Amino acid sequence: QTVYVNGDYLPKDEAKISVFDRAFLFADAVYEVTSVIGGKLVDFAGHMARLHRSLGELDIEPPVSDDEMLDIHRRLVAENAIEEGMIYLQVTRGTADRDFLFPEKDVRPNLVLFAQAKSLIDNPFVERGQKIVSMEDLRWRRCDIKTTQLLYASWAKSLAHADGADDAWLVRDGFITEGTSNNAYIVKEDGTIVTRQLSEDVLSGITRSAVLECARQLQMKVEERPFTVEEAKAAAEAFSTSASSFVNPVVEIDGSTIGNGAPGPVARRLREIYLEKSRAAAI
Ligand code: PMP
Repeated sequence: QTVYVNGDYLPKDEAKISVFDRAFLFADAVYEVTSVIGGKLVDFAGHMARLHRSLGELDIEPPVSDDEMLDIHRRLVAENAIEEGMIYLQVTRGTADRDFLFPEKDVRPNLVLFAQAKSLIDNPFVERGQKIVSMEDLRWRRCDIKTTQLLYASWAKSLAHADGADDAWLVRDGFITEGTSNNAYIVKEDGTIVTRQLSEDVLSGITRSAVLECARQLQMKVEERPFTVEEAKAAAEAFSTSASSFVNPVVEIDGSTIGNGAPGPVARRLREIYLEKSRAAAI
């Protein structure tokens, strides 16, 4: 496996970052995950736009241009022979003496990218659907910034697994925000798709905006507003979206079956259309 670190393409075991890197000490870093289908990058421009926003919010300089970033992505896809999978990208504030104060000068961001081959289109949840448990959203209040501060999301997903579920949907002030690494949706009996509106409470998913655009083009009604676990239990269907899972049906929440307990037609249709468009537009 070839890994990119600050300009070098290295074998996995030689790819290293300092223990004084601020990502290691403070989770002072942002990341992106871009999926690869048919050897091509899905919605690369969207991921770059969100990366710039995350970096801007935290006042970290982009380490390379978007053109260079595209070259690095493509080289990793080629060198690792990725037909289907993901490219993970992380920008850290840099390496500095441990101090809560952001370092002022002479600190350059560190850039790391690696590839993961993974079967994405062929996903068992498409037929089986995911079981979800709800859990309090104990993350910090700037979930709109894609930081590597992922401990609670990782913990919540692990607790969900220990409970026999596949993932957790997080609840703040009585309303679902999102999944541990995905945006959350329900579909009402009349076909209306409901997902929480964008704010500092959720990550603005690149897949979310593409899927909502598909829904609107298909004349499906979309409501961007908060919804509760009770409303999810009573929904006709539910699903989640993320770059690596696309549209992923949900069939159970907190032990209550959603709809007839099988993946629903809206999720299935959106997954098909999204995949079709993504394949055609991948670069
Ligand atoms: N919300 C959270 C908390 C996430 O971690 C992710 C995936 N990184 C998403 C939503 C989905 O975003 P995207 O569609 O860009 O993968």
